[in-house]
Amino acid sequence: MVLEVDVLTLFPAMLEAPLSESIPGRIRERGLADIRIHDLRRWGLGRHRTVDDYTYGGGAGMVLRPDVAAAALADLRRPGSTVILLDPAGTVFRQAIAHDLATRPHLVLLCPRYEGVDERVRSMVDLELSIGDYVLTGGEPAALVVLDAVLRLLPGAIDEASTAEESFAEGLLEYPQYTRPATLPDGASVPAVLVSGHHEQVRRWRLKESLRRTLERRPDLLEDRPATKEEVKVLVELRSEAATEPAAAEPATTASATTEPAAPAAPQTTPTGPREDRPPDA
Ligand code: SAM
Repeated sequence: MVLEVDVLTLFPAMLEAPLSESIPGRIRERGLADIRIHDLRRWGLGRHRTVDDYTYGGGAGMVLRPDVAAAALADLRRPGSTVILLDPAGTVFRQAIAHDLATRPHLVLLCPRYEGVDERVRSMVDLELSIGDYVLTGGEPAALVVLDAVLRLLPGAIDEASTAEESFAEGLLEYPQYTRPATLPDGASVPAVLVSGHHEQVRRWRLKESLRRTLERRPDLLEDRPATKEEVKVLVELRSEAATEPAAAEPATTASATTEPAAPAAPQTTPTGPREDRPPDA
């Protein structure tokens, strides 16, 4: 299935280049997504193609007119569309929302500027999304964030192993990763288990470090997430370690300088697309 996307903006150039480069660009070239960027002025009013106006009641700045938004959405919306307004008051965008949007057939993203939108525009959309608790000058960077996160989840977009084990995929932060050299001149080494060749031990280490990192940096992620029996056991272990050895937050065991592995393990699944950890043209 091809994901169709229509973006409404006053500044199409802000989106064209980022969505034509690197992985998003290749996803488009390969026909996994059809992205059309529209200048909102096409639906503007009068000789100047006006799209926004002063606010009733006074105050600084202009807001997007509801009649202009309605005209644009009337042309672009169709059965099955999900119309998204980028707005600081929206639901905070998370990976789970990205996964959901990647399954939809058609997204329409509305990017206001200046002071935002006439309140009546909110009733014309299906979803309001914020990318975080800060204020941008316009919806375009927010639309890029949403689209970038969604596009890479499309089936065949990138190596599926990359998205299966990354941060948030299982509601946890990703475990630490290492590559060559196994030891740096200052002695900083790769944890010994990673060069041991014991797949089960590596899996357990990764789970533990993933939980450790989440517990330390984003304990909120663990709150509403049902843990497996194994995870509960590891969490108990981590909590008791923290209680008895507060300074031992990072794994103490590392590979010795003499255990340089031939090469880091190759991906175990067949890549279905470009891996994100390679430069675009590698
Ligand atoms: N007056 C608005 C308010 O106080 O909530 C802020 C408007 S902001 C300067 C202009 C536009 O940038 C917004 O309408 C929205 O499209 C976009 N924007 C700003 N911050 C955003 C965020 N955190 N997430 C998503 N969109 C944002």
